[in-house]
Amino acid sequence: MAKDYRAMWEKLGINLQAHDGLLSVLSDAYKGMYLAQSNRPKGMGYFDFVISEVHGLRIEEIVAAKEQGRPVIGTFCVYVPEELVLAVDGVCIGLCAGAEVGFDEAEKYIPRNTCALIKAFMGFKLAGLCPYVQTTDLIVGETTCDGKKKAYEALEDITGKVYVMELPHMKSPEGRVLWESEVRRFAGKLEELSGKKITLEKLASASELVNSKRKALLRLAALRAADPAPISGLDALLVNQVSFYDDPVRFTQSVNALCDELEDRVRRGEGVAAKGAKRVLISGSPMAIPNWKLHAIIEGSGAVVVGEESCVGERGFRELLDTGFATVQEGMKKIADRYLTVDCACFTPNTERMDNMTGMADRLKADGIIHYALQFCTPYMMEAFKAKKAADAHGKPFLRIESDYSMEDFGQLKTRIEAFLEILGNGTAR
Ligand code: SF4
Ligand code: SF4
Repeated sequence: MAKDYRAMWEKLGINLQAHDGLLSVLSDAYKGMYLAQSNRPKGMGYFDFVISEVHGLRIEEIVAAKEQGRPVIGTFCVYVPEELVLAVDGVCIGLCAGAEVGFDEAEKYIPRNTCALIKAFMGFKLAGLCPYVQTTDLIVGETTCDGKKKAYEALEDITGKVYVMELPHMKSPEGRVLWESEVRRFAGKLEELSGKKITLEKLASASELVNSKRKALLRLAALRAADPAPISGLDALLVNQVSFYDDPVRFTQSVNALCDELEDRVRRGEGVAAKGAKRVLISGSPMAIPNWKLHAIIEGSGAVVVGEESCVGERGFRELLDTGFATVQEGMKKIADRYLTVDCACFTPNTERMDNMTGMADRLKADGIIHYALQFCTPYMMEAFKAKKAADAHGKPFLRIESDYSMEDFGQLKTRIEAFLEILGNGTAR
């Protein structure tokens, strides 16, 4: 990092010594997995810069926004409506973490057999390593999986600023009514926190902004259907990860600039892997930054990841918000409708996820599907069985993987993935 941010971090209560160690590990991992790739699009330069400043410039911007009286809202889930946060001039940041950090501390509050994503967000907070969580005025949880629900209680004890949205687990008419009332309750909380009213004008412009971000991500996702793939799965994953905390206007412009370049690559038939390289769709639990392990193994084995059926992937931006609303009340309804289309495994039944997964596999011309569940992530581990059935019925080879954030299983995963890649293209489902 070019600038010295230590004074800012100290003010935010960061454990400086441990933080130095974290940044150095992150920088080494990035060099090894990202900068070592060949023929990367030039447009990835922006995202390299974002990563080099992940705890620097962006935090400085957020601190400046706070000083202007803008509320900073931390979230953990794609069900939390970003439009509402932006409609009160708030800053919305994703707090999910993808590294094995502070687990010993976390295990004083939550069981050892909790998924790594939950342990990491607890661990980052407890070890004093996340400047994002330190800047938040409100941390928004949601009643999705049991692990998160109970972890939010512990996080509330630690931070005193947790707000939980009640998400139904069935998309029934009653569930829909509950969810719309929760969307309204959240809007009221944001108005109270910011001292600003959500007006039609504000809601409309926030909705357009979030949709423009989704459209840029959809454009990127569609370009990955080309053979040869114009961008690696690792790079596309990074773009998706950065979408959760970057400035939305700048991010959208940068993704669109990247897509202009990729369109040109597609026209010229230029790619990051050879034409005909094995193509893999990933489906399952979200991969928070810097969880790059699976993509690195697959692409290090000569295949290319062409899509993520995941919240850090198409599940998070597949549906646009219908912005044809004439009142704030109508806008709330449309927001409730849009967010209830998200096909998280915490819902029952959740058949639309299977259709979305096989639909993506077809559209992106994937040769096979790798289902990824974080260990102890019961919703996605359970749905893996249905996903396999759907993939089998669709004639797509399928591999089920459970992993965590450690590198201990790297070799074992590599062996399994290489064996899976061998069978792709010859139609043998597993
Ligand atoms: S997997 Fe489910 S709980 Fe996790 S971020 Fe996605 S929607 Fe939220
Ligand atoms: S990865 Fe699974 S267990 Fe972990 S927070 Fe998300 S839904 Fe819950």
